Amino acid sequence: MFFEIKQSINRFYNLILFAFSYWYSKLFGKFCLLNLPFAIHIETCSLCNLSCLFCEQGLGNINRADSFIAFTDFQRLINNLPKNIFWITLYFQGEPLLDDTIIEKIKYLRSNDFYVELSTNAQNISYNVATSLVNSGLNRIVVSMDGISQKTYEKYRTGGNIDKVYDAINNLIKAKHILKKKSPKIIVQFVVFRHNEHEIRLFKKHMKKIKVKTSIKSAQLVENAIDFLPKNKRFSRYKILNDQLILKKLPSTPCTRLWTELILLQNGQIAICCQDKNANFLNDNWYKKSINEIWFSEELNKIRIQSIKGKYLDICYNCDKGF
Ligand code: SF4
Ligand code: SF4
Repeated sequence: MFFEIKQSINRFYNLILFAFSYWYSKLFGKFCLLNLPFAIHIETCSLCNLSCLFCEQGLGNINRADSFIAFTDFQRLINNLPKNIFWITLYFQGEPLLDDTIIEKIKYLRSNDFYVELSTNAQNISYNVATSLVNSGLNRIVVSMDGISQKTYEKYRTGGNIDKVYDAINNLIKAKHILKKKSPKIIVQFVVFRHNEHEIRLFKKHMKKIKVKTSIKSAQLVENAIDFLPKNKRFSRYKILNDQLILKKLPSTPCTRLWTELILLQNGQIAICCQDKNANFLNDNWYKKSINEIWFSEELNKIRIQSIKGKYLDICYNCDKGF
């Protein structure tokens, strides 16, 4: 009890430090960083069973070897995390449920009082897996389902089977019901393209019927993907200029994500945000350095200072943050 109260006070204090640091930097144009991150994404597994059309993993553009974080390394990492962090996402470039130790990892995080989220393509959630996920204490699960028919779904989710996604959602609902658990909260995510935008209404109707929350998300596209742009502008982060896709609105600066989160890759590399798929900006390695050292490193501070000055990185020109 005492530990939990202390943890909550620490986390709240960290929020205050963030608000001060970020707004001081933004308003006065001077760098300030007093807080630690709130959220950490951990790529427990960099292997995937699908080859989605515009995903760097699916396109084969990820330059680290496919592998997993060993459970002992994961435990060591979690033991050394600053206690101010409260949100852990177990996903980056890869399918987390291909990791045989994922349930143990979730349990370990929950026993350390972290809020845990996992995002999955849901190709492997049998009733047994759903039961293990529910029993693990997982707080939130995001299931990708960009369509309601196989024909539409597989246009983006190359190699995916939509029936397995329907089964996964049903298994999760059933497991929660039988085990009488409120978590994990199930969010079914629909990434909108031209080929599936006509199915949004039916998708929402179906999910409402089975009492599952939905998230409608704009697609991140690559060059020459104009044909995939939804007709309904509401669902697109891009406009077309001289036959090129460009963001309708650039993210505001400085970028809040540089003050709030960090992404730890399976091989030890650190990504500065979710657009930095190949961790191209930092040379640090979390197997060798503490998260505190990495968070306050000169290398990362230089990027924050550039952001305060309103300078964008090349990855910012395809970011969803301004949308
Ligand atoms: S399932 Fe996720 S990680 Fe795998 S290829 Fe598709 S978008 Fe990429
Ligand atoms: S791509 Fe740029 S704007 Fe987007 S989250 Fe990363 S640093 Fe921020």
